[in-house]
Amino acid sequence: MKQVNYIIVGQGLAGSILALTFLKQNKSVLIIDDSSLSQASRIAAGLYNPVVFKRLVKSWLADELLPFMDEFYTDAEKLLDEKFYFKKKIVKPFAEEQERKLWEKKVNEEVGKYLSEIIYDDFLNDSIYNPLGVSEIKHGGNLNTGLFLNSFRNYFKQNNLMLEEKFDYTQIIFSNDKVNYKNIEADIIIFCEGYKTIDNPYFSWLPFKLTKGEIITVRIPDFNIDDEFVLNKGVFILPLGNHIYKVGATYEWTDLSEQITEKGKTELIDKLKKVIKLPFEIIDHEAGIRPTVIDRRPLIGLHPKHNSLGVFNGMGTKGVMLAPYFANQFVSFLENKSALNKEVDILRFIKSH
Ligand SMILES: Cc1cc2nc3c(=O)[nH]c(=O)nc-3n(C[C@H](O)[C@H](O)[C@H](O)COP(=O)(O)OP(=O)(O)OC[C@H]3O[C@@H](n4cnc5c(N)ncnc54)[C@H](O)[C@@H]3O)c2cc1C
Repeated sequence: MKQVNYIIVGQGLAGSILALTFLKQNKSVLIIDDSSLSQASRIAAGLYNPVVFKRLVKSWLADELLPFMDEFYTDAEKLLDEKFYFKKKIVKPFAEEQERKLWEKKVNEEVGKYLSEIIYDDFLNDSIYNPLGVSEIKHGGNLNTGLFLNSFRNYFKQNNLMLEEKFDYTQIIFSNDKVNYKNIEADIIIFCEGYKTIDNPYFSWLPFKLTKGEIITVRIPDFNIDDEFVLNKGVFILPLGNHIYKVGATYEWTDLSEQITEKGKTELIDKLKKVIKLPFEIIDHEAGIRPTVIDRRPLIGLHPKHNSLGVFNGMGTKGVMLAPYFANQFVSFLENKSALNKEVDILRFIKSH
């Protein structure tokens, strides 16, 4: 019988980040993952941005999340000897006069620490539609999620911390204050299954409001923006090098298959054509399901009846920013009985159970 403190089901952003946080606290973990079940974390552009574009306000907990995220990914890069975390300027060409006026007003408010005052009226004028100038969000960037997850997977496998299979819920046996899964005994099993939690018999009552997203990868031979920038105007355009760019993303609430669609592709092409003046070709097209929740807050905590089952999920559209901070909070809650933010605690939905 193998014994660990925690079994983690799922090695997307949530499961990987939680596992590393446990390891930092000298807790033993085993991850069980069948990566074919959801590709949300792998296809995500991994952008992080402290500002909500539409209203130009700070995104939820931005001041707390950013320094935490910075330290977490920098440490992870050292541990895994790989570079996957990048700071970038998010450049926003203004679509209308009102948008620019709002920006000029907000620069002088508290959110102004994340907004650049400089407006380059002639920024990339040969390649993008830019009649009203641009400005920049400061302290944004992206995580190369594919590289991050692969590096973690190799690390977990090399250290025998990984089981590559689909988790079988019928194999859970509760015994005293422990829980057994096949030949493994753990204190707690924590489910980090992304949107697949809707099929989990213990947590399917959680009120997800899932959002499908599609993303295209394009080659723009005559476009050469520096990879320290991300462009954002209706869609984001993230440089991957060699004139290749990721462009996304769509938001869809009714078709929740992981299949790519013509509708999604057409929407992204139309939006890209409104930003870029240059010809481009599509070289890839992907789709995934974001684990979004009715109140747009994560879903974290222990099962109301089974204290040896937990969940770390609901990272929605912002897994990169949210997961490091809340993994740390969840681990402190489990290990030191410190408080869990009530806005993320699953017990806020106890009536649905
Ligand atoms: C198109 C798109 C663009 C996005 N862009 C961004 C972005 O720019 N920035 C950002 O922060 N976020 C972005 N997101 C959101 C981000 O992807 C999510 O917040 C994040 O991936 C959620 O991670 P997760 O680990 O909870 O879930 P998932 O990524 O779904 O991972 C769950 C893992 O568990 C495995 N699994 C599930 N069930 C089982 C089981 N029974 N047994 C074994 N394994 C199982 C799955 O195969 C998977 O490996 C985007 C999402 C999409 C779809």
